[in-house]
Amino acid sequence: MTIMDSLPAAPRVGETLGRYTVERVEPLPEMQGTLVLLRHELGARHAHVIRADDNSAFGVTFPTVPQDSTGVAHILEHVVLMGSQRFPVPDPFFSMLPRSLNTFMNAMTASDWTTYPFSTRNEKDFFNLLAVYLDATFFPLMRYESFRQDGHRFEFATPDDPTTPLKLQGVVYNEMKGAMASPGSVMWRAFGKALYPDLTYANNSGGAPEEIPNLTYEGLRAFHAAHYHPSNAFFYTYGQLPLARILDAIENHVMAQFAPQTLDVSIPDQPPFDAPRHESAVYPGTDVERGAQVLVGWKLGHSSDPDLNLRWSVLSDVLLGNPAAPLTRPLIESGLGSALADGSGYRDNFREGAFAAGLKGLPAGKAAEVEALVLRTLEEIAAQGIEPELIESSLHQFEIAQKEVSNSGYPYALGVMFRLLGPWMQGGDPVTGLRLDAQLGRLRADLAQGAVFEPMLKGLLANPHRVTLEVTPDPALAERAEADEAALVERLSASFTDEDRARIVADSLRLKELQGQEADRSVLPTLGLDDIPTAAPAVTYHTEQPGRARVARAAQPTGGLTYLDVQLRLPALPDDLLDALPLYTFAVTRSGAAGQDYVSLARRIEAVTGGVSAAVGVGTPPDDLNAVRLAVTFSGKALARNAPALVEVLRDLINAPEFTRDRLEQLLKQRLAGLKASVVQAGNAYAERLAAAQLNATGAVQERFSGLTALATLKATVEGEGGLDDLLERFGRLRDLIRTAEPLLALTATPDDLNLDLTPLTDLFSGDAPVGRPAPALPKRAPQARTTDVPVSYNAVAFPTVPYTHPDSPALLVLSRVLRSEYLLPELREKGGAYGGAASFDPREGVFAMSSYRDPHVTRTYQVFKDARTFLNGDLGERELTEAILSASKILDPLTSPDTAGRRRIYGDHAGYTQDLEQTYKARLLAVTLDDLRRVMDTYLTEGRATYGVVTGRDPNSDDLAALGLTFDVQAI
Ligand SMILES: [Zn+2]
Repeated sequence: MTIMDSLPAAPRVGETLGRYTVERVEPLPEMQGTLVLLRHELGARHAHVIRADDNSAFGVTFPTVPQDSTGVAHILEHVVLMGSQRFPVPDPFFSMLPRSLNTFMNAMTASDWTTYPFSTRNEKDFFNLLAVYLDATFFPLMRYESFRQDGHRFEFATPDDPTTPLKLQGVVYNEMKGAMASPGSVMWRAFGKALYPDLTYANNSGGAPEEIPNLTYEGLRAFHAAHYHPSNAFFYTYGQLPLARILDAIENHVMAQFAPQTLDVSIPDQPPFDAPRHESAVYPGTDVERGAQVLVGWKLGHSSDPDLNLRWSVLSDVLLGNPAAPLTRPLIESGLGSALADGSGYRDNFREGAFAAGLKGLPAGKAAEVEALVLRTLEEIAAQGIEPELIESSLHQFEIAQKEVSNSGYPYALGVMFRLLGPWMQGGDPVTGLRLDAQLGRLRADLAQGAVFEPMLKGLLANPHRVTLEVTPDPALAERAEADEAALVERLSASFTDEDRARIVADSLRLKELQGQEADRSVLPTLGLDDIPTAAPAVTYHTEQPGRARVARAAQPTGGLTYLDVQLRLPALPDDLLDALPLYTFAVTRSGAAGQDYVSLARRIEAVTGGVSAAVGVGTPPDDLNAVRLAVTFSGKALARNAPALVEVLRDLINAPEFTRDRLEQLLKQRLAGLKASVVQAGNAYAERLAAAQLNATGAVQERFSGLTALATLKATVEGEGGLDDLLERFGRLRDLIRTAEPLLALTATPDDLNLDLTPLTDLFSGDAPVGRPAPALPKRAPQARTTDVPVSYNAVAFPTVPYTHPDSPALLVLSRVLRSEYLLPELREKGGAYGGAASFDPREGVFAMSSYRDPHVTRTYQVFKDARTFLNGDLGERELTEAILSASKILDPLTSPDTAGRRRIYGDHAGYTQDLEQTYKARLLAVTLDDLRRVMDTYLTEGRATYGVVTGRDPNSDDLAALGLTFDVQAI
């Protein structure tokens, strides 16, 4: 982040900027910014945040309140991104990804709004993307073929043969079939419907697969005309670019083309229930032992009320925020289920908010038991009172959240948008989402007067607007859904004449023809290679070596937070410890330490830190892919005043962790439930790991740490005889090993807070470090398939390549970008109906992979992977090359922030990935040619080197894979 000498001045209230009027100007002292709220003559609202951050952001959000579950808002989100008046290419959005240096681009449909946000550090890029976003949302072409491609369509199994069976197709149709296979999604949709049965939340805004075919093309267009209008738009901009210039662009591009319109999108209140209700829902799954969830939820007051919103946020954090929290702990310790149910906590994304708690990892039929447990526990808490220390700890967490400026996970620039969007869209005051001082002040004053939260709990318990919702797996559902789909096709097509059938064939051919057409992407704005910043921002730190530990200190504008990491590089370790290591890092911060049980330790962590974590990392040096390095890193953050206490917490976690059998059993069950759920969400990553595990030691370790092998190991430990005792014994050996490892500490803080005493940590390490490095056995080389309850497939192929310093590495990185945007996305998503397709190359791992996401095909997709060479030998030009290099450069220059910039440099340098090496890599990247791409493809991506992995719902060998020469080893997950 560069801090400019002077920020643009804020306009005055009442001032007009074109047809905009400044309605409010509010200082945002916590984030050193200013909020300007404007209103356009046509009714459009605009919030602009002036802040010294070179990552500028934009978002336009429309309240969208669907009246059915045809997925109209979601399908519209897809279709508006498929060509607009000024940019009539089939996929301006995907085409812009590689023409831009954006740090975020996306579109999202929630239950009552749709938003289109982006961010970028480049000014030219900002206005390029602004033009594309404005044109897409306000002037989309909404072609009939786009509706058919991404919405729904009939297609014959052989598209040009009307005697073959009819099928339903469509990107959203397939996407939602995948989404509704996940218990979390099913719970979330069912919860909105159960608690607000008369409102828009009762509908599946993403689209219920069985109702999507009811959406008509005319219905889609009408929904757009009504909702995507300036009068219904909430604009957001952030950064240090001049506001007048941004507003001018919006006025000229959008506002000037519209006449006034009014639309009532207001959501009424849900009529209250007289008595609590019980509801249920099912998802396709076979885990009847542990696959059910029960959630008990209440409707609360308006979430636009800032005091109510803050108080419920705090209360929810007090009750559920950590393993020791007074509601979490009895729920988990009951042994009924393994983890909190999806949807637990306070939810302000409904117009009237909700609070819910429950358990997952249950057998079916536990609704009454979980309900009784939740109610009894809340009654006890309300009667006994909440300890003031717990409330203080929670308020301290809000203080940290207010001060922290982080781009980790999500650009800060857009985090600000989502914070203000909540109250703003609900008709409340957007400022209250960004500035909690007034609400916090009133809360503290009320707390000084007497009980605040106990009366809230009593009110909750007396509130009859309550739902107990049970979500259970139904092993027959997948089959039934298929039969239902066939029946639906049958019903919808019963009256088809030969003419109708001929039209379906013609439509399919027309769609195929359009997809095959070469689009003229030169109408889209673009950046050039000279827009790529050549010099990386300098990050300085200094190092010292007290004893065996190395310490690096980096000064950063952290807003008063201190970040501390302790990386411990491990020596050779026996095979059984390798499998235990990720379980160790998962359990160690959630157990006890130094004489404190897990409850006391969790309270201590909550009271003095903003969170601690432990993770295991796998890496290799820049010039050798076979020299596996393993490290465990303990990390934490705290307000500077609590930094010494953070040091003590980390010391205890590293030096004196204490595990008990009961707690470990709880934790492992939680992890098992989490991993199982993630298979449906991230099946492509699991498939890639299955394939990469066969290639080299790093891949083999990754698979055992975070692949399906890790899931199988965990399952065996939890369910097998003596598994826990054996693991406890291995944990003891790991603890001893970790205490002898090679330590590197990285401290990030403001210059004032940089001299923190770290000797309590550095003193732990003395004597000689053990030597050697892990050398795990590779699994056998054969195509691997894992089956589970999914109606789609995740296909992957992987190839071993070269280390970071090899001159071919940058060309492989560029190749992955070319294949992704020019080949795999069109072939797999547009033509194949998969939700996604990708090529990936991590220069530090040296593995090149291609994969598909939520894919209806297996054989077809592997044929597409195989044909990549033919594509590459076709007519690729300089444009494709330039775009791929631009896109690759983003991977080399990730968006950092004060919390990450120092650590990234420190650990990069330590691992040998120095700034010099990074500059060499970038110089090579800028010089990559088309011939290089073809050469590295022929050298490294050959069939003889390929390994295969697939996560799927059925035996892939039943497909006709023989033509591809593939036979999969099949195992159920
Ligand atoms: Zn979608």
